Amino acid sequence: MASVEFRNVTKSFGDFKAVADVSFDIANGEFVCLLGPSGCGKTTSLRMMAGLETPSSGQILIGGEEVTHLHPKDRNIAMVFQDYALYPHMNLADNIAYPLKVRGEAVAKRHARAKEVADVLKIGHLMDRLPSQISGGQQQRTSLARALVYPARIYLFDEPLSNLDAKLRLEARGFLNHLQRDMGMTAVYVTHDQAEAMALATRIAVMDQGRIVQFASPIEIYRRPATTFVANFVGNPPMNLIAVEGTQADGQLRLVAEGANIGALPMTDAIGKALAAGSALTLGVRPEHLFIAEAGAANSVTAPLFANENMGPESLVTIDRGEGARVTARIFIDEHLDLGETVTLGFAPEHIHLFDHTGKRIPAAGE
Ligand code: ATP
Repeated sequence: MASVEFRNVTKSFGDFKAVADVSFDIANGEFVCLLGPSGCGKTTSLRMMAGLETPSSGQILIGGEEVTHLHPKDRNIAMVFQDYALYPHMNLADNIAYPLKVRGEAVAKRHARAKEVADVLKIGHLMDRLPSQISGGQQQRTSLARALVYPARIYLFDEPLSNLDAKLRLEARGFLNHLQRDMGMTAVYVTHDQAEAMALATRIAVMDQGRIVQFASPIEIYRRPATTFVANFVGNPPMNLIAVEGTQADGQLRLVAEGANIGALPMTDAIGKALAAGSALTLGVRPEHLFIAEAGAANSVTAPLFANENMGPESLVTIDRGEGARVTARIFIDEHLDLGETVTLGFAPEHIHLFDHTGKRIPAAGE
């Protein structure tokens, strides 16, 4: 296992910067997810680690050694692709043992090792089958087994679960989580699925337009998103973001939306600085931090009911503040609500997130 470091890495395709001056340090044994929307540069970053792309500038280090221009086969890295990339004419035993074959391992030895890994992944009984004769979930595990059969310094995953159906995906995610904790592998895992990143990662790098916007533990990203972009990307449903006008009165920050006073917070130096730069703030509240409140309650938003979706143990209650500005609460609710009925959703001031006029987090008191 080894560490991975990016030092000011940029990758341009013509005039376009797919990865723009990215620096980070991944410690030995970490499981890091690169998370972000389509086209933000996740796969390009991963391919540079693998040696399948060369940076336009900057350096890449693995285990403290510079590998920026090293051939992929000399990096001792294992990669699992989205499409599994299994050899269709080889049975599972040969597919899984392939990395050992290219390293000159004798047939008996490599098949024994392949069986060992396959058993762990619960596909040991399928070794004689061809990839076309097994399910998608089993193909995914075969591809994983092939990556794990030879001890690599780093494991790279490019959306390996995205071709699985929802149930298999959850199962495979749990399995990967177990495997990582068990093996202590250093892994970099690309996904645009925030739930997958939250479940698997020791740290998440949230990417937007070729840059890393936040690089922190899942809990830190959930509790203290650095920007409105991160706040909106992580969490299901995402954090509610409400455009507000901030004013200072009587040692308090008053939050006004559409002319209505919707909340107040004690002033802090950080809020004062943000207000001086611009009074157009964004108030963030997670759906799980909203509750049904009395009309006119302090710290609340009121609007007609747009939807009430039963999710089993809880419901998603969405109100529509007009022009698509909706607020969703994730709550336990017994009562029937009619569409269009006026609903007030309340929040506790300690669960508020505030962002300045540029979308940057304003640290809460004590942060
Ligand atoms: P996705 O989740 O859709 O795979 P991603 O975050 O992995 O997206 P990348 O595949 O890294 O994104 O691509 C980043 C940007 O670079 C995209 O706009 C893409 O079109 C562009 N890009 C990637 N490879 C090339 C290439 N070989 N030539 C030109 N542009 C490229």
